[in-house]
Amino acid sequence: MVAATHNDTYKETAGRIAELSFAIGVYRPPSEGGSASLLLRVTENCPWNKCTFCEMYKGHPFVYRSVEDIKADIDAVKKIIDEITAASEKMGQGGRITRDVGMSILRADPSLNDNQYFITVFNWLYSGGKTAFLQDADSMIMRPQELVAVLTYLREKLPTLTRVTSYTRSKTLAQRKPEDLLAIRKAGLDRLHVGLETGDDELLAIIHKGVTSAQQIEGGKKAITAGFQLSEYWMPDLGGRERWRQHAENTARVLTEINPHYIRSRPFVPRGGTPIFTEYEQGRLHISSPHERLEELRLMIEGLNVTSRICFDHQMNAWTNRKGGLLFIQDYEGYKFPEEKPLVLELIREGLSIDESRHVDVKDLISLSSL
Ligand code: SF4
Repeated sequence: MVAATHNDTYKETAGRIAELSFAIGVYRPPSEGGSASLLLRVTENCPWNKCTFCEMYKGHPFVYRSVEDIKADIDAVKKIIDEITAASEKMGQGGRITRDVGMSILRADPSLNDNQYFITVFNWLYSGGKTAFLQDADSMIMRPQELVAVLTYLREKLPTLTRVTSYTRSKTLAQRKPEDLLAIRKAGLDRLHVGLETGDDELLAIIHKGVTSAQQIEGGKKAITAGFQLSEYWMPDLGGRERWRQHAENTARVLTEINPHYIRSRPFVPRGGTPIFTEYEQGRLHISSPHERLEELRLMIEGLNVTSRICFDHQMNAWTNRKGGLLFIQDYEGYKFPEEKPLVLELIREGLSIDESRHVDVKDLISLSSL
């Protein structure tokens, strides 16, 4: 009789892992990026899918997934975790997730290098296994009792989770009953990421956002009352030169009313294949210059009366400072308002004081991407 070698043991582990899979979507906020968050797809694509600037889910129909299927995915994740933890114990590492554990499993079956389920779960565990992000575009569209069932199961199966977050729409939040929002919050959904884009009603109608500023305020306030942490994303220059003033003023008005925990800037870039790109190409929408974008930003920031954190955590917030570095820090915590409002306004003044040619111009990026 031949004794099983360590490699045989890991081969068996790798073989069992290779049988497992779960749904993973493409999109998540940068703050849930890297390996930090476990990505779980509770619905597929976007139930609205009509915003004229958005290319993310175009051509992909919305799919409402059953609780059974989502639970099966959570079970698959749990099995992969258990396999990796057991391998660690066999190595004498006491269940700790180390590089050696990962390498031993990969050496036994190098094909797992291309297995996104193993790689995702291993990297997530290696990063601490603390946060999860529910995909895709609007998880709150799920029937409340079904979302509660999914969250309860997720928290029970993965007890190391300290934060679960998701995308949703203002309109969906506005439609939800306060008691349903409370139940979802209590079941373990902590943070919501909402694409506000603009608080200007005319612009909201033009971009087919499918929501009014009154509904944005209602949805945002209801989420905060239910105890969610709320991240709202706005899009500088979405109205172009034609509507920059109303865009800035009304976005500040709506965000001040909501007073979310985070306000995140996502400067507008027309993406090929979207209706708004055609508007731009045909000269009906004019993109602002870097200084004009800063003027718009100044108007918006001046109008904000919030206790939020203001974040520029995206590479398109690419204005330059006097030393040639980035004008704004691009981390996920940003600037605390109102304390750091004077600092942000001072940075905007700095950006406006340097020659415009030293800033990144979105128009150049668009022409580069269409070469
Ligand atoms: S709701 Fe969000 S994901 Fe859906 S089309 Fe609009 S921007 Fe895109």
